[in-house]
Amino acid sequence: MSKTFGCLFITLLTLISLRSEAKPHMVAEVGRLSCLEKTTPSSKFFSDLSITLSNANKTEQSFIADTFETIIRMTNQQQAERLLSGLKIKIQNTLGDRSSGGCLPAHQLVRNEIHLARKCEKIGEIPFREGIFIHELGHFIANKLNLYNKYQNEVLKRCKLTNYMSKSRAGKKHKNRNEEFAEIFAAYLLYGKELKSKCKHSYK
Ligand SMILES: [Zn+2]
Repeated sequence: MSKTFGCLFITLLTLISLRSEAKPHMVAEVGRLSCLEKTTPSSKFFSDLSITLSNANKTEQSFIADTFETIIRMTNQQQAERLLSGLKIKIQNTLGDRSSGGCLPAHQLVRNEIHLARKCEKIGEIPFREGIFIHELGHFIANKLNLYNKYQNEVLKRCKLTNYMSKSRAGKKHKNRNEEFAEIFAAYLLYGKELKSKCKHSYK
């Protein structure tokens, strides 16, 4: 089965089964990694895009490379470099816990750096790290190309595909639409059919 048909087929099943279920918290929880293109990671692959990766194991290198390969195939090598160059990805076992007591799976407190954690004290291994990484990548690209304002000005209708687009897990409303943008970015790669059908302006 081709990748497109495979994604579409799973999408149809998901749409049928999701009808009665609650809205997902984040795209990371429901996104399909099978929608990513596959490549073999190598140091040349990352350096050609001017990306540095530290402390990533084989599995992590693989899903990160697959994400970039998907972006290359959606655009081209030159455009992908424009979107991604300068990014530093740092993977650590833990990033420390939030003062609220929650788990901190990733952050971008340092400019151009995505820090991704493997586990948290309280919950152990962090699930859905691949999707969380892609969400963070959405923030990186938005910051790099100044896309938050552009998105807000061009897409007036808010997308409500996931809860996290508007509020945190604790229910606190986000002050701006930056999380909505990062979720849209993740959905475009991993949850495209649902994004297109529920938030067509965001998809466009
Ligand atoms: Zn975010």
